[in-house]
Amino acid sequence: MSSLSVLPPECLLQPFPVPQRLMLGPGPSNVPARIIAAGAQPMLGHLHAETIETRNRVTLAVSGPGHAAMECAIFNSLEPGESILIAVNGIWGERAAEIAERIGAKVNTVVTSAGGYFTNEEIEQALDKYRPVVFFLTHGESSTGVVHPIDGIGDLCHKYNCLFLVDSVAALGGTPICMDEQGIDIMYTGSQKVLNAPPGTAPISFSERACQKIFNRRTKPISYFLDMSWLANYWGCDDKPVRAYHHTGPVSSFYGLRESLAILAETGLENSWKRHKEVAEYFHKGLEEMGLKLFVQEKKARLPTVTTIVAPPGYDWREITGYIMKTFNIEISGGLGPSAGMVLRVGLMGCNSSKANVDKVLEALADALKHCHKSRV
Ligand code: PMP
Repeated sequence: MSSLSVLPPECLLQPFPVPQRLMLGPGPSNVPARIIAAGAQPMLGHLHAETIETRNRVTLAVSGPGHAAMECAIFNSLEPGESILIAVNGIWGERAAEIAERIGAKVNTVVTSAGGYFTNEEIEQALDKYRPVVFFLTHGESSTGVVHPIDGIGDLCHKYNCLFLVDSVAALGGTPICMDEQGIDIMYTGSQKVLNAPPGTAPISFSERACQKIFNRRTKPISYFLDMSWLANYWGCDDKPVRAYHHTGPVSSFYGLRESLAILAETGLENSWKRHKEVAEYFHKGLEEMGLKLFVQEKKARLPTVTTIVAPPGYDWREITGYIMKTFNIEISGGLGPSAGMVLRVGLMGCNSSKANVDKVLEALADALKHCHKSRV
């Protein structure tokens, strides 16, 4: 008999039954056995920094989800009172603006409707007008299904003496981006999308120009946990001979992240980009043949990793996603932020990007449209 007045919850004494599901929402994706096995390796107190291929010295994984990398990028690159320009074409620009406001930065935005993107002329006009020290752009807008063109924007940012910050959480590995060649100064991604690792680690990289700014600040960044002076040392990316304790990183998750990068390296980036493109196009064709409409009009602006489908008129999108989960064990999702209620979202990322999965989700959608309630509109 325990002498404690609060007993452990009964449910903890039972195994936790986790169902097998095909995770075709905008993330997390399924985690292949090889990555799960990597995470089960013995614990280490000190980890080796496994970095993404780039010329950048300061490339590491933040201990946390994509949001942690987002805050790390913004908190370190901006000081209170400095100005940031944010391209808003979905929820991720909106969130970046909210994060920057919290540190007392001057936040200006250019905004376009959900499903749209910006031309380089529009970006240059805004850079000229606001003269920001940082320009934020979302590469893969997972809320609207848009892949933003990147070419030429780095040069524009540098012409206006501003750092180019790119969120590629939902795109990196699934669609082309070349940080060094395209003049990107800060870029981050998430582990749980194309990389197929468990959520909770977020690779981030800083160019030399970005380092010049972030390591020569007047004020300390607002977050101790995300302070890049600490993190660069923790990961051995600075020139100091000794790596100091800063926090206890999620070591097993780093093993998983490393394995996911190894799989991508073996596959080859170009092959991965090509497969995501072909699989997405095969999916889009199948959707149109079923009479469904794609939310992003322009073909070249369609994000290959996350597809947005116009919510079928007359149906309740929640009933469709619920039906597909219940009947097929497949997760797909509704819209988010500006696309809420307007779309269904299907993610085909990393190992989930296959024609076999497309066939499964097309079959599930066709069946849902037959069985879900349709009002006469
Ligand atoms: N940016 C984009 C483009 C995303 O799609 C997401 C995740 N949906 C995030 C940032 C945030 O990542 P996390 O959920 O891992 O915090």
